[in-house]
Amino acid sequence: MIAGLIGIGMGAATGLSARWNWWRPKAKGVPVLMYHKIGIPPKNSKLKKLWVSPEQFRRQLDYLRAHQYTPILFSEIKKFESGEKGLPLKPVLITFDDGYANNYEEAFPILKDFGMKGNIFLVFETIGKDNVWHEPETESRIPMLKKEQILEMQASGLMEFGSHTMRHRNLDRAPMADVVWELRESKKRLEEFLGKPVGAFAYPYGAGAFNPKVREAALEAGYLYDFSVKQGLSPFPWEKAPSPIRRLFIRGDDFMLDFHLNLTRGRARL
Ligand SMILES: [Zn+2]
Repeated sequence: MIAGLIGIGMGAATGLSARWNWWRPKAKGVPVLMYHKIGIPPKNSKLKKLWVSPEQFRRQLDYLRAHQYTPILFSEIKKFESGEKGLPLKPVLITFDDGYANNYEEAFPILKDFGMKGNIFLVFETIGKDNVWHEPETESRIPMLKKEQILEMQASGLMEFGSHTMRHRNLDRAPMADVVWELRESKKRLEEFLGKPVGAFAYPYGAGAFNPKVREAALEAGYLYDFSVKQGLSPFPWEKAPSPIRRLFIRGDDFMLDFHLNLTRGRARL
């Protein structure tokens, strides 16, 4: 009986250390949460990990509130860096990639409930359309944000927007002329539409972030902050950071322990 209990205890401990990195030292840096879709995945979805349920999202914001995190906006980053505004004690940047309509329908009302701020990377040519870059057999076509939804969120003062290119192309594989066009045209068109500067950019698929030519093109296009999909925390300030800013991928199959480890250790999984 006792041997059995010890066996169970040891098994659980081994399981924990193999799955979670709770033993890692605490990391320094401003955490950037990376979300995609908020909602329940369609049954045929092969990309379920990109879907976080509204209940999970609410629990995660509840965690942020309980642990005194302050969600910030893209436009505030520069103010914190220049000293124009004091950096909150525990800042966090909540980001959503692609610009799905469910960010407005599901995420925005929850963020409003908590009085928290979020940031969305838009694919300019897909606004008001659907996620045309996905293979339908991998992921169903779902609606993207409409212009009026984006403007309503912007007017609330709780949401800001960055660029995720014109067409969600893989910048590591595209010819350099197309890379430059994707970077510059999306910035210009978004600025015209939003009526304010767009300083943040996220690489589709994270591709090209660590290709020096692509990154140079992104910085030359005028982006101040470029976000990768590389897991981790980037030391702050981020201006002229030596490499693209790391993020914390919040997966649909995460537990709250993963969320906690992501924020405090910079990663949850091995
Ligand atoms: Zn994307």
